[in-house]
Amino acid sequence: MTTDSPPLPEADFDRARRELEDLVRIPSISADPAHAGDVRASADAVAALMQESGLHDVRQIVVDGGHPYVVGEWTYRAGAPTVLLYAHHDVQPTGYVDRWSGDPFEPREVDGRLYGRGTADDKAGVVAHLAVVRAWLDATGGLPCNVKVLAEGEEEIGSPGLGPFLVDHAAGLRSDVLLLADAGNWKVGVPGLTYSLRGLAGVEVRVRALDGPVHSGMAGGLVPDPVLTLARLLASLVDEHGDPAFDGCWDDYEPPGAAERARLEALPHDVDRLRADWGVREGVALAGHPDAHVFERLWLRPAVTVIGIDGHPIAGSSNQIVAEAAARVSVRVGRGQDPDRLNAALREHLEKRAPHGVELTVRPFESTPAWHCEPTGWAFDAATRALREGFGTDPVLMGVGGTIPFVGPFAEAFGGVPALLLGPADPSSRIHGEDESLHLGDWHSLIRSEIALLPLLASENRQIGGPATPEQ
Ligand SMILES: [Zn+2]
Repeated sequence: MTTDSPPLPEADFDRARRELEDLVRIPSISADPAHAGDVRASADAVAALMQESGLHDVRQIVVDGGHPYVVGEWTYRAGAPTVLLYAHHDVQPTGYVDRWSGDPFEPREVDGRLYGRGTADDKAGVVAHLAVVRAWLDATGGLPCNVKVLAEGEEEIGSPGLGPFLVDHAAGLRSDVLLLADAGNWKVGVPGLTYSLRGLAGVEVRVRALDGPVHSGMAGGLVPDPVLTLARLLASLVDEHGDPAFDGCWDDYEPPGAAERARLEALPHDVDRLRADWGVREGVALAGHPDAHVFERLWLRPAVTVIGIDGHPIAGSSNQIVAEAAARVSVRVGRGQDPDRLNAALREHLEKRAPHGVELTVRPFESTPAWHCEPTGWAFDAATRALREGFGTDPVLMGVGGTIPFVGPFAEAFGGVPALLLGPADPSSRIHGEDESLHLGDWHSLIRSEIALLPLLASENRQIGGPATPEQ
């Protein structure tokens, strides 16, 4: 801000925190049909917060019987640019509840962090956007630019309704820049500005050999074991470094060019801190080919994970060969790769190798390409200044290995507008894991940054629609 600018408004942080805690108490797990009512309750709560913050035309949109999107806007600043503020109100399943240090849906503060499912991913993003809107409206009666706010309800299941939603509602949400509060910071105290995401593909694979279980002593040696068959198939998906090794898994991958490689090399390179943040056990070596830069392995290259596996639980197991085994295989899609092609490649690889003629079913369940943009231009300049203002230090331009399906299609639908990905998480937030938490100090800094960002986007936006074009 120039020295003669009026002071920026302050958000009511205590109120924002209470609102966040109330939202976290609603178990809006989009992946679990038993919680569909909770996702609706969470949408109702978000809609009420939008109303209270001063947005108008607050509405809920349901596509194909999916979970509700909540939308609101403030568009009274004629001639000013429009910013689309995105976050999501659904959350991941809890995982093993007994591995949490408390109830996942009863928020509690420990050492400056707020613990609970959805605290960092991404209810803090929803509440931050609304706290910013309210701060401006309460202090000045208006916003520096037009805003449209979108809180999605099915991000954590891969945004299955995004295609039809885009067809029916993109025109009404048209904006000059996207501002997402669903990414994260470099580390506690140092903000991140994310310009690159991996995509997501994945299949569920089932191996069946029998009508029902048989005695392993009576039949073992002649009847193939579906669990071992599945294990052999899964093991063939990666090489000795843990890198993807199935047929076609590197097709279309775009390795970083010279400029990007230089950018990665210049980043603070503290792998030990990452290991500590993730809780990697001593003696465990990191995966990925050692010749590839750590951040290429983490943000750009494809990666395979088995996120679920069914055989027979150890508790209650007996000497039998189970009839069937199954696994969910998730693939982080590398830059330039086509997720549908990767899923087809996975299927072909597994079908070609299934031993003993076992029945094999492969069903795709995820498909989102990677996204990135060139982190330069007016919007990135404004975001850099605003984050410096909010955190007192420059942001790190970074990639994220995760996926936000919304970004690419919307940036493209609006004519290649820039997308700014900020967020409340940090590497120790354990989003998607047990004991998810939010650093409250950084969340406050994020809200301050976003308050500073809106007038900067309004004044620096001399070239609406350009020039930071996504290159997906
Ligand atoms: Zn998220």
